[in-house]
Amino acid sequence: KSWTAEDEAIIATNMDATECKRCAVELGYWKDDYISYFVRHADRKAPEINRGYYARVKAMEMFIHQFLERCGTKCQIINLGCGYDTLYWRLKDTTQAVGNFIELDFPAVTAKKCHIIKRNKQLLQKISNEDGEVMIRSGDLHSDGYHLLGCDLRCLAEVRRKLAAGGASAALPALLLAECVLVYLRPDAADALLQHLAGAFPRCALLLYEQCNLGDTFGEVMLRNLSARGCVLAGERLRMRPAALVERLRALGFEAARAWDMQAVWRALPEDDRARVEALEMLDERELLLQLNTHYAFSVATRGDIFADMDLNA
Ligand code: SAM
Repeated sequence: KSWTAEDEAIIATNMDATECKRCAVELGYWKDDYISYFVRHADRKAPEINRGYYARVKAMEMFIHQFLERCGTKCQIINLGCGYDTLYWRLKDTTQAVGNFIELDFPAVTAKKCHIIKRNKQLLQKISNEDGEVMIRSGDLHSDGYHLLGCDLRCLAEVRRKLAAGGASAALPALLLAECVLVYLRPDAADALLQHLAGAFPRCALLLYEQCNLGDTFGEVMLRNLSARGCVLAGERLRMRPAALVERLRALGFEAARAWDMQAVWRALPEDDRARVEALEMLDERELLLQLNTHYAFSVATRGDIFADMDLNA
């Protein structure tokens, strides 16, 4: 399969995200012992960017915790457009390592991630089973409880096939992660993917993070930047307000859904955390941060009663 220039630009967004995360970690925003293995160097980013990433990572963490609290570790995590995300290793260091962890991204990304993992002892030792076995089969990495699979999320047949190869099971609760990923899919492809996943997992929770409210002047500038990076297709959906996002998720087969802009998420974070982070860097551009925060949304969509009460303030 050949990739278009647009795909290449989308693939490159992974390096962006990883560098931003590494920068924020180095500045003390949160702890991640693994991110530096995936990107050697990161230029310093603006304080608003670091603060934005902090809220994004913190919100993910908070809801991952709520999910695991409700179903325990006999479950699976499916990380859509995983990039170089280090969640698998971070969870391994806690008591919350899950039964099965499946990561999907373009083969160009998973092949590189696989390469980095293979030559790094710290990463590798948390993946291999007792005999130190990991298996690489047609570019995909398989081991007990961790699968890294090359896949185009726009192609449902492939997603189905890869999930099966990764041992995904309809019988287990599933946590579906889409952190800044669906924005790179056409609305119809993103909808089809979500609808398929909601249908496939009777007990699941989706954590979705992406731009929203892009209908105003600030949003139009963000849309233009996104299209310069290959994302020209998701426009209509990204103009939605969080309330409309909730409706969309319910229409796709989730039983309950909630969505907030990131300003609401920021305000809901524990006061101690906010105070600590606010002391890390001077923020000149308060207005800019507010604009950014109101143009990103975090949504949670669930199926199954045990997850119905997952909430920002739960
Ligand atoms: N989720 C990671 C994070 O938040 O750090 C990475 C985010 S990065 C901005 C977007 C990722 O989505 C990239 O790794 C990109 O390759 C992946 N992606 C976008 N469209 C995709 C598609 N159609 N199939 C597979 N992966 C895709």
